[in-house]
Amino acid sequence: MNRFFVEAEVLATAPEVTLSGDLAHQLTRVLRLEAGDYILLLDGQGHEYEVELQEFRRLGKTETAQGHIVAERDAVGESRLRITLYMGLLKGEKFDYVLQKGTEVGIAAFVPLLSERCVGQSARPERWRKIIREAAEQSRRGLLPALEETPVRFGAALERLKQTGMYALMAWEDEHARSLKELPSGLTELALLIGPEGGFSAAEAEQARNAGVQTVSLGPRILRAETAGPVAAALALYQAGDMQ
Ligand code: SAH
Repeated sequence: MNRFFVEAEVLATAPEVTLSGDLAHQLTRVLRLEAGDYILLLDGQGHEYEVELQEFRRLGKTETAQGHIVAERDAVGESRLRITLYMGLLKGEKFDYVLQKGTEVGIAAFVPLLSERCVGQSARPERWRKIIREAAEQSRRGLLPALEETPVRFGAALERLKQTGMYALMAWEDEHARSLKELPSGLTELALLIGPEGGFSAAEAEQARNAGVQTVSLGPRILRAETAGPVAAALALYQAGDMQ
């Protein structure tokens, strides 16, 4: 069944729903669905609604689809461990890959990070949100990963982590002792910090440790930044018993 994340107002009229805009267009023109076909609507908060399509209307250029909710349930596909990835801004399309692959793996929230060696692009929130939504639909996530639109400076990110007391780890290429194997069992919130192409400096690693953020290794090979983000998340989820 095709899956779509929708805004809360679409579900406010439950059990009847009216779909419009891009979604209606996709249902009719792209997927060529008809009355009697079923789709899944997701509220992005962990609930899914099975909808039987009933009627399509076309008013000039505007298309709408009417549907009826036939079943409602908790969405599957979410981990108990909520990972927030603080990811150094990257050049070109590399940040897009992190969002796409990170969403597939199971990251709950993305925060673009501005660190010392960042030479990457400026924020592109609209494009980024679209990538996350499509990846979440494709990978059958129940939760739509959150995106912080404005990049956060390294120091401000550390300050925030310190204040919230969230368990946080920074993948640092010069750390050789600690690893993600030491993740406390039963953890429900984890912040992961990954550097940009040029990595984190020794000064940043020290700053992180002083703020209570442990540095960890991801193993003996140096991964590209866009690989390191999704891989670190996968290792943490595996360690938490959520991936197999
Ligand atoms: N330019 C650096 C590598 C940066 S890799 C160098 O050549 O040394 C980009 C980011 O990915 C790093 O800042 C770190 O957060 C993460 N990373 C990649 N491989 C890693 C590893 N083996 N251990 C820990 N972190 C790693």
